[in-house]
Amino acid sequence: MVQEEVRTHTAVHVLKGAVQSVLGAKWTASTYAAGTHGRLTVQFDRKPSDEELARVEEAANRKVTEGAEVTEFDMERHEAELHFGDSIYDLFPVPDTATMLRIVRIPEWNINCCTERHVESTSLIGPLKLGKVRFRKSRRELEIEFELADLTKWNR
Ligand SMILES: [Zn+2]
Repeated sequence: MVQEEVRTHTAVHVLKGAVQSVLGAKWTASTYAAGTHGRLTVQFDRKPSDEELARVEEAANRKVTEGAEVTEFDMERHEAELHFGDSIYDLFPVPDTATMLRIVRIPEWNINCCTERHVESTSLIGPLKLGKVRFRKSRRELEIEFELADLTKWNR
């Protein structure tokens, strides 16, 4: 049985890919996962329309249904930067002392350095529903909350 938070955290990566492809938001300011509840905060310049948010949710769920492989591997920092550029980074910095990076990749969807645990396939995440969306103009931050289905109840 997959731990809920591992599922929810992996969903953050899937959601980030969706936010990136639908809205073009590149930088993550923060992420949060507790139980089946998660939140992704990205740097953005406006509040998206309901239609755009529906497309984000749809794209994320499509990636879940697809059952894309989630791979983790270690790479020399220098090497990783040459290969992937700054797309592996977030707004919160990796310590200068880190010379090896743990990279997490969902092919053609999301790549990020991340030391958290992840499920092996996006299909293990299950359906995802967007919740409250907040735009903080002064900080240019877009906060998207989401909820995963409780799979233990689901399978009954
Ligand atoms: Zn991660």
